[in-house]
Amino acid sequence: MSESGTQPTFTSLGVAEPILRALNEIGYETPSPIQAESIPPLLEGSDLLGMAQTGTGKTAAFALPLLTRLDFSRREPQLLVLAPTRELAIQVAEALQSYAKYIPDFHVLPIYGGQSYETQLRQLRRGVQVIVGTPGRVMDHIRRGSLNLDKLESLVLDEADEMLRMGFIDDVEWILDHTPETRQIALFSATMPPQIKRVAQKYLNDAKEVKIAAKTATATTITQKYWRVSGLHKMDALTRILELQQFDAMLIFVRTKSATEELAEKLSARGYAAEALNGDMSQQQRERTVERLKSGKTDILIGTDVVARGLDVERISHVLNYDIPYDAESYVHRIGRTGRAGRTGEAILFVAPRETRMLRTIERATKQPIERMDLPSVGDVNEKRVERFMQRISDTLDNQDIAPYLDLLADYQKEHDTDPMNIAAALAVLAQGDQPLLMEEPPARPERERRDRDDRGDRGDRGDRGDRRGRRRDFDKNAKPLKGRPDMDMERYQIAVGHQHNVQPKNIVGAIANEGNITASLIGQIEIYDDFSTVDLPSGMPKTTFQKLKRTFVCGQRLNIRHADEQDDRPKGRGPRKRPQGGKRPPRVDD
Ligand code: AMP
Repeated sequence: MSESGTQPTFTSLGVAEPILRALNEIGYETPSPIQAESIPPLLEGSDLLGMAQTGTGKTAAFALPLLTRLDFSRREPQLLVLAPTRELAIQVAEALQSYAKYIPDFHVLPIYGGQSYETQLRQLRRGVQVIVGTPGRVMDHIRRGSLNLDKLESLVLDEADEMLRMGFIDDVEWILDHTPETRQIALFSATMPPQIKRVAQKYLNDAKEVKIAAKTATATTITQKYWRVSGLHKMDALTRILELQQFDAMLIFVRTKSATEELAEKLSARGYAAEALNGDMSQQQRERTVERLKSGKTDILIGTDVVARGLDVERISHVLNYDIPYDAESYVHRIGRTGRAGRTGEAILFVAPRETRMLRTIERATKQPIERMDLPSVGDVNEKRVERFMQRISDTLDNQDIAPYLDLLADYQKEHDTDPMNIAAALAVLAQGDQPLLMEEPPARPERERRDRDDRGDRGDRGDRGDRRGRRRDFDKNAKPLKGRPDMDMERYQIAVGHQHNVQPKNIVGAIANEGNITASLIGQIEIYDDFSTVDLPSGMPKTTFQKLKRTFVCGQRLNIRHADEQDDRPKGRGPRKRPQGGKRPPRVDD
């Protein structure tokens, strides 16, 4: 096991104290590779060109140093982050807020299309140090004079290739031209198409280039599989795997210290011999934990990359990547903890839809396809449980002294005149305790949903957005005849819940019928897309119903219903945008 002391730490990299405190609380243990390389030059004020995609920790890579550099006594925009979509802008703003939790007087504002100008203007007037926005809306505020970037110190272009693909590159350049020449720029992009290279050459000065090397070579004795996270929580998926997999010892990788503890607790509560292994433990404690794994006193260790590096325990038959690693190199390190000493091993990777790109990167780097696996079904789990239950009865009959109970139960049976099978069943219930013997089918039938989704193609993460958009059909009112009752005028609405949230038509119908008091038979055609859906409803919806439906939640998402043909609230008279490279302009929903 290697010492974390040999690795750079957030402290040694120079991150400010209040941010360190927040990081410790969030549970980040060590900087990810992109963070280790980006933080020092950004702290020095250099420009940076980072080739990094979602999942590498790129947000913290720019957020931590640039927050460290801010002057919080000044309430004026000093840091601007441009992001391609409203979702990313919100996500980045939330990340910044969490890192800056212990910085008094910190103010960050996400600005994007679709949100009222009033709210944004009010906040801008109050004064903020950090703006995270989509290019269109940022540009509008600069034009209106409501956003003054004269005092800007740093600017981040996040997912620059996405901004290019979405046709924002001219806007980005326009914004860059409206910032002081002295500002520092960090440009992050998963790929480097020529247009992005050109922007980098034009605007970046002496930029430090950061690229995470993709090292290869995985042992062929290791079988690699991945499960696409959908429908079920990762924790439930993990327990299904644990119930069905024959394993000797398992090493589970997560990203944070807190997750190691949380998972260890949950697994222990479910009867597994599981322990956490993290950087909060002393070297001695860690060694003892590893010893317990070696000797079979514990079977499952849940660790982070750092503490599990170099772990050499022959018993480890399985490595489960509960959280996807930051890069192919750490993947190779992780799975190399199994298949030791000539044994075979199995590696399982959980991949959320938005992490699809990282999966492909790993496959490319290791030059090995990772086979897709299906989760054991509820039927499989129950079959196994019944088998184990029967086995326990046989083992008890074979190996335990049941004689004292025979007389007792014979007395009971005589006294109560009960069928012996009923007595046995009652005892089985007692033995089972609170835990039901059989697992129930989850209500949303996620397995079927997952297959349906896959039939429609591989729906990607933020990184695959370009493809997704390509598949989106225009939801223009005239695109398809509206369905509903033939004697009724219908209107098409858009709602902010889609495949990503595992929504099914019945959920939408249920919510609209109940909350909107609209008879289900009057609800027309429903089309589900990745992150939104459309639904045809009778024309002339009362305002109160509309407002109520806006606030209604389905699958954990606020519906935010709006007319499908409603454009964003961009001021009129703005010049036409250029179309993105190589394709039809996607419908504007994000900006
Ligand atoms: P990003 O690539 O910025 O989208 O980050 C991906 C995920 O990694 C986010 O959930 C972060 O909270 C998490 N993350 C980033 N840096 C670290 C770190 N040093 N330790 C643990 N988790 C991290």
